[in-house]
Amino acid sequence: MTMAAGLAVAAALLWVYLRTRSAPRSTRFAWIGLILVGCAVGCFVAAPWLEARPVVERLGWGILAAATGLAHACAFNLVPLPHNRTRLRMILVPLGMWAGGAGSFAILTQHQHPWMDLVALALALPVAAAWACVPFLARAPTHVQMGATPVPALRFCCPRCGTVVDWGRGVWPCTDCGLFLKIDVPADAHSASSKPDDPAGAVHLHCPACHAPRIATRGRSVCAQCQATLSLHWNMHR
Ligand SMILES: [Zn+2]
Ligand SMILES: [Zn+2]
Repeated sequence: MTMAAGLAVAAALLWVYLRTRSAPRSTRFAWIGLILVGCAVGCFVAAPWLEARPVVERLGWGILAAATGLAHACAFNLVPLPHNRTRLRMILVPLGMWAGGAGSFAILTQHQHPWMDLVALALALPVAAAWACVPFLARAPTHVQMGATPVPALRFCCPRCGTVVDWGRGVWPCTDCGLFLKIDVPADAHSASSKPDDPAGAVHLHCPACHAPRIATRGRSVCAQCQATLSLHWNMHR
């Protein structure tokens, strides 16, 4: 029973880590998380054959609690936030790690310190609230505000840091790393001459005309479904 529950949680964490690993901002955390999940799975699988089964299972749950906090940090490092709300990340990201650390401590010490359980619970509540907000964050807005003017928006991952950003058409900075992108729909006359370059610099987005998922390369690209043109320009300097 413990093994099945532990492996189910581990599978959910694995999904979060594998999804966030490719974004440069979360890669390091995701790798640490994958190692933690591996250790926890090892504990759950080995426990039935060991004499110290309860200790090993508790160790597995302790590691999973820390890994859960880290998965929260990885995910909320990348969720789309409006330009004026990105400071929320400074609270949201460490909050998960603190909650995970406190939970892990409470489990490993067998809840001998009731105050630690309270701390873990107090930290876990806002983490749970943050996840309850995910369905709202997951809905891409049709427009973003440029001062007082609404500008049609396009959502895709920043090609430099991997954060999910709602980009306005025209010139727009990444909410988190500040990389500037120039987005034209349909592609402007200038970009007609520039060849699509560097497939590594491609981004996944929904076509602004027909909303079909497509890949757009840096430079000019054409939607395979509706032939709408789009041009994306950015300078990559680290
Ligand atoms: Zn960025
Ligand atoms: Zn299209």
